[in-house]
Amino acid sequence: MNANNRTHAINVIAGRTPDAPSANLPPDTSLETYGEDVFGEKEIRAFLPKSAAAKLLATVNEGKPLDPSIAADVAHAMKEWALSRGATHFTHWFQPLTGGTAEKHNSFIEPAGTARAIQAFSGKNLIGGEADASSFPSGGLRSTFEARGYTAWDPTSPAFIKRYSGGATLCIPTAFCAHTGEALDSKTPLLRSIQALGKALKRLMAHFGQPESRVSVTLGAEQEYFLIDRGFYLQRPDLLQTGRTVFGAAPAKHQQLEDHYYGAIRPRILKFMNEVETQLWKLGIPAKTRHNEVAPAQFELAPIFEDLNLAVDHNMLIMEVLRQTAERNGLECLLHEKPFSGVNGSGKHCNWSIAYNGRNLLEPGSNPKENAIFLTVLLAVIRAIDLHADLLRASTAGAGNDHRLGGNEAPPAILSIFLGDELSAVMKAIETGTSWSARGRTKMKIGVDTLPPLPRDTTDRNRTSPFAFTGNKFEFRAPGSSQNCAQNQMVLNTIVAESLDALSDKLDAMPGDFNANLQKLLQRLIRAHKRVLFAGDGYSAEWQKEAAARGLPNLPSTPAAISPFRLPANQALFEKYGVLTRGELESRYEIALEDYHRRLRIEGAVALEIARSMIRPVVADEFSKLATAISLAKKDGLKVGVTGLKALSLKLGAGLDDLHVKCERLDRALAKGRHEDLLATMADLRHTVDALEYLVDDARWPLPKYREMLFIY
Ligand code: ADP
Ligand code: MG
Repeated sequence: MNANNRTHAINVIAGRTPDAPSANLPPDTSLETYGEDVFGEKEIRAFLPKSAAAKLLATVNEGKPLDPSIAADVAHAMKEWALSRGATHFTHWFQPLTGGTAEKHNSFIEPAGTARAIQAFSGKNLIGGEADASSFPSGGLRSTFEARGYTAWDPTSPAFIKRYSGGATLCIPTAFCAHTGEALDSKTPLLRSIQALGKALKRLMAHFGQPESRVSVTLGAEQEYFLIDRGFYLQRPDLLQTGRTVFGAAPAKHQQLEDHYYGAIRPRILKFMNEVETQLWKLGIPAKTRHNEVAPAQFELAPIFEDLNLAVDHNMLIMEVLRQTAERNGLECLLHEKPFSGVNGSGKHCNWSIAYNGRNLLEPGSNPKENAIFLTVLLAVIRAIDLHADLLRASTAGAGNDHRLGGNEAPPAILSIFLGDELSAVMKAIETGTSWSARGRTKMKIGVDTLPPLPRDTTDRNRTSPFAFTGNKFEFRAPGSSQNCAQNQMVLNTIVAESLDALSDKLDAMPGDFNANLQKLLQRLIRAHKRVLFAGDGYSAEWQKEAAARGLPNLPSTPAAISPFRLPANQALFEKYGVLTRGELESRYEIALEDYHRRLRIEGAVALEIARSMIRPVVADEFSKLATAISLAKKDGLKVGVTGLKALSLKLGAGLDDLHVKCERLDRALAKGRHEDLLATMADLRHTVDALEYLVDDARWPLPKYREMLFIY
């Protein structure tokens, strides 16, 4: 890792001619291949006996409980299908609390006599698996003597095939639990929360005289990411080990000109995107939009929204496909929330809504009854966010995301809701009981009047709001790009379930005319929770003050942000809705805290190592050369140049001393392990190193620079 390697890498990149369009593989646009690697409805019908197919589809499409007697048939069908698609192995695919996905492959091959084998996959293999859980985080849930973990088939997310060059594996989405049944993963509580929300919604809908119907919670997750050339990536130990650059001076031009956002996508990146999408479409993942993001080298992919559980699995796959396809293209996909300081970080906007009997309840309706339901659900969400902002904030906490939230590029750590002009006016009208329409002076009667038309694509979208109503859904913008959406969606579902129930309780206790009662209830709700509504600039310092005055929590760093997981009232809430037991919630706290500290320690150690072993020798060497030159010049009685040499050597010398002092401080902070000290000493050291980057001979700087990584690809 020296300047020669760097120069070589840059030369290789510079010498790489972008593929001529004709040389590119044509993207696969045939509709036949969409979903061809998914064991979906078509495959279920083709490979399963009729009655078993009907039973499985009832579970998949209508959420009916699974009939275990069909397991053997389903396993056989899946195996036949997978073999026909070239799979040699199967795996239970799950989402442990590391934040990633996990798989352990088993071949279909089983011995049958001497030098003979059969291909087998039993119902038992499909339904459950045993995995050594001892190396997965459990946050104290699993005692060391009981290291087994169990995976359980989730039939609501279809099995799929993962391909790699030369082979393929059948993947079965599963939940992952300890022997006690406690969840060791993200999927289990997510599924429980979807159930809880469904139950609470059905109860509320009964007040509106709606017959019991299927509830679906939907998620559309917009995935942001960076791409840099792998040649650079491999020469940055900090990127390699922590996913972010701990040093790097700001280039003269970064994102000031705002010329990257929605700009023409470069051919090399388009080729990458086409490859990603072709794979995603085969996996039945509806990748829809792609564009350049705000920061240089930053991009976004958004699929069309789907049922929440499936959308979460799909997002996990999207991240994996992005990473692997990047590597094949000589690129590195950075999913960290803040790979580069000074330019925007990456988030994962979670667009969320609930549908009842196929109708989106967050879509303003076309008749008074639909509107009443819309406003009621809307207010239930507002109430939930106001009362449980701390929990939602906790669900997005993490060492990476801390750099984003509150950095004037992403929503602040304060949770507030943006409703848009029209809806805010409706809220005001309900609250004050005044007229809501400019035309008439009538009061809006909930359940009797219709809403004024609410334009879907309002121009006054507020990008600084962490939780924005965007016409027919809420867009939660705090989640980080690397995070599993299940974390925050599980919390959102639970707090909204609680809120819906609270409204049902109130309505139950109000005798008399339903519409009049509802009107009163909604009015009270707005009065009680309007402090969480905010339409101004979420980045401004005034909002920080204003939010504090309103009593809204503002917890910018992870250790504080996750503390609500330990509050007894919150533990009782999750327990009441059967989403997480006290122990399970406690374990999430422990894991998040430990993960935070570990990441910080790794970052500190990497920074120290780079500063001492890569930066310091170069600075020292340059300084000593200068010193030698100065003394030679003096000896020879040179009249010019000495001033310049001296000035530079003074600066370099001071930088060298500074470097020494700050490395020592970071070293001590690492030994002590207090996160505030680690953050402060790392930032301090960065300051010195970044200043030196501007001084030291460019050819000898040992790390790829921002202006190279962000612009040469
Ligand atoms: P923007 O960047 O303007 O927010 P995008 O098109 O990038 O818009 O992303 C919007 C996301 O919201 C998409 O994934 C879209 O499918 C999703 N979405 C649209 N309607 C719903 C809904 N009812 N529930 C959940 N997600 C939705
Ligand atoms: Mg968005």
